[in-house]
Amino acid sequence: MNDLELIGVGKTYPDGTVAVSDFDLAVKPGEFVAFLGPSGCGKSTTLRMIAGFEDISNGDILIKGKNVSAVPPEKRPTSMIFQNYALFPHMTVRQNIGFGLDVKGLSSGEKKAKVDRIMEMFGLSEFADRKADRLSGGQRQRIALARGLVVEPDILLLDEPLGALDANLRRVIQNELKLLQRELGITFVFVTHAQSEALGLSDRIVVMNRGRVEQIGTPHEVYASPATEFVARFIGSNAIIEGSNLSFDGDAAFVDTAFGRMHGRRSQSLAPGAAALVAIPAEAMRIQPANSSAADGENRLRGTVSMKHAVGSVGHFKVDLDGRQSVDVQTGTDNEALMRLAIGDAVIVDCPSDRVTLVARG
Ligand code: ADP
Repeated sequence: MNDLELIGVGKTYPDGTVAVSDFDLAVKPGEFVAFLGPSGCGKSTTLRMIAGFEDISNGDILIKGKNVSAVPPEKRPTSMIFQNYALFPHMTVRQNIGFGLDVKGLSSGEKKAKVDRIMEMFGLSEFADRKADRLSGGQRQRIALARGLVVEPDILLLDEPLGALDANLRRVIQNELKLLQRELGITFVFVTHAQSEALGLSDRIVVMNRGRVEQIGTPHEVYASPATEFVARFIGSNAIIEGSNLSFDGDAAFVDTAFGRMHGRRSQSLAPGAAALVAIPAEAMRIQPANSSAADGENRLRGTVSMKHAVGSVGHFKVDLDGRQSVDVQTGTDNEALMRLAIGDAVIVDCPSDRVTLVARG
């Protein structure tokens, strides 16, 4: 049975704002799912509807097969972690963590045992009696997680929980979060606008745009096989080239472009007659001097180097295609001939068709 199901879920706020439409999703027990999309695309609204803090305008939400659409938040088997942690600054760590258990009607002994165990797990025992506002960002984040988990929810909902942390601490906590989730086997639904977080942490990503689901897939699927133009532009670093005269051969799609005929895999969004765009990942392109005898790959583009820089083992080139558009190419730095390329040099860029995706425009 699925842990969580959203069936045609929609939300229209009283002021008429349509925040979420037709959201369908099934989450398996123990899955780590990320909602990823730009600010305002409806991620938090969806999370709040799952938690019960927001009414649903359309559709249904099921948790472990039970329709919870009309169940109040405190009766749902969910816990929510907020970006600002929502800790009580004047309460101690122990009181903050125990807060969620107060409504559960446990004896004080049972409550103390649960709080002690979770503080131990999160390395918070030595701070048990310290006020929450006397602790660092990373420690506060752990208190928030401990408070969410002490009630033993079936599903933990996390709303940009790492947003308030600096980059280094965020990496550390990201790793901890992933380990913790594996260890506990609890279903996590995580909201973020940062693709690195979604790609690095989750089993599946729901890419959202303007209240709609654009694509649901593993990090590899959404990265390597974008289903829509939005996903191709939002995730990774794709060159996007306009196509016309679309045709298909099985799963392959072909178009004419200003730079010649190109082909790649056909995405879900691409119906016959659609205006097609070619999406080419920066790191899947090969760049070579224009006179190279090995420049015989698929999807060849001619251009000149307009920018080049190398950081560590990664080289970045910008290649101008006849003044019409430029593409970013990412390479290794171990090829000396490549590293000798200078601004203004004529080059050929190519990309194997199995790394290229054709998506519908719009
Ligand atoms: P995200 O979490 O992706 O940033 P939200 O779910 O917070 O997006 O918001 C989705 C849309 O709903 C936005 O257009 C936002 O302005 C709107 N919205 C959010 N909360 C409310 C509210 N209480 N009343 C009216 N509109 C809201």
